[in-house]
Amino acid sequence: MSQRLSRAIELTQQMVSFPSVSDRSNVEVSQFVAARLAEIGFDVEWLTYEDEEKVPKVCVVAKRGAGLGGVAYLAHTDVVPAEDWEPDFSGAFEGYQKDGRLYGRGTCDMKGSLAAALTAAANVHNDQPLYFVVTSDEEVGMRGASFVNQHSKLFEEMVTHDTMGIVGEPTELQVIHAHKGAESFAIVAKGVSAHTSTNGGVNANYKLIPALSRFLELRNRAETDPQYHDKSFDPPTLSWNMTISNEPEAVNVTTSMAILNNFFRAMPAVDHEPLLSEVRRIAEQFGLECRTKYSARPWSVDPQSDFVGKMLELTGQQRSYSVCYATDAGVLQRLRRMVICGPGSIEQAHRCDEWISLDQLSRGVELYERAFMTRW
Ligand SMILES: [Zn+2]
Repeated sequence: MSQRLSRAIELTQQMVSFPSVSDRSNVEVSQFVAARLAEIGFDVEWLTYEDEEKVPKVCVVAKRGAGLGGVAYLAHTDVVPAEDWEPDFSGAFEGYQKDGRLYGRGTCDMKGSLAAALTAAANVHNDQPLYFVVTSDEEVGMRGASFVNQHSKLFEEMVTHDTMGIVGEPTELQVIHAHKGAESFAIVAKGVSAHTSTNGGVNANYKLIPALSRFLELRNRAETDPQYHDKSFDPPTLSWNMTISNEPEAVNVTTSMAILNNFFRAMPAVDHEPLLSEVRRIAEQFGLECRTKYSARPWSVDPQSDFVGKMLELTGQQRSYSVCYATDAGVLQRLRRMVICGPGSIEQAHRCDEWISLDQLSRGVELYERAFMTRW
């Protein structure tokens, strides 16, 4: 095994050992990342905020080298929950090595990628600026990226001087030039809870139920009407999903809150505003509240542009692709030159046995070394 790969494995394992699930603080893993960056010559910008639950969160933006422009690597340190973790040979936060794979929550999405980029940065001596942007809360609405977009001096410098950005999300090292966005909103009906043996309660479901068929109709129209399709994606639809929940759930308590959660994936060629205003109109008609949870813009760059071509050359690939999931790129799109390209497969992310192959990790280090040395 090469020294580089050993180092990337070690860094992945160390980062995976911090259980930085999005609803917990990522301060410790960020301190680890900042220390590794400082060790190899980066100046670090430390950006802190409190999330909606008052949990402290950190984004790390860093720069090495004089001058302006250059290239940036972008990642996030938060991971999805691990309550469903299955492998019996290791825990979710160990980064266990087995049969040419590294298992653990975040190995694939995306601490393995970050480890590959840190290893690459330690091995190259670039004569152009190299930046790292490492965010929080990517998995839950990209609040960290929004914070960077609004408050980071280094990110502002990157935008002004047209730095080339590589978002290291798992793509099996294929080059991605576009992705869908996300619209998340809830329709809320309110009642009054009481013991069901009394007549004191008002069941919120009875307010929501009559409106459901109207929302379903709208959702079905959005899925079938070509006006809401963007053929550069597969599937070309908004993939509008709904879940319904009650608070409280006990059947002997009158339900005081009924919530219809909605999530769809916005696309660059689709104006979905008419759908959202129709949603608000139906909600108003039935006396329901419409709450926006978050909104992430879709993102795309011209697949024919020079920098996409250069990235294809570096990866030895013929063409770039679009994907259906959202990333920080949507929020950080003031950076005009950006691609998504990272080791590991999205198929292995967010799973109950998440893993990354050592082969991908190793090829990730090599690719990032080449990318950091390239004149963009
Ligand atoms: Zn990710």
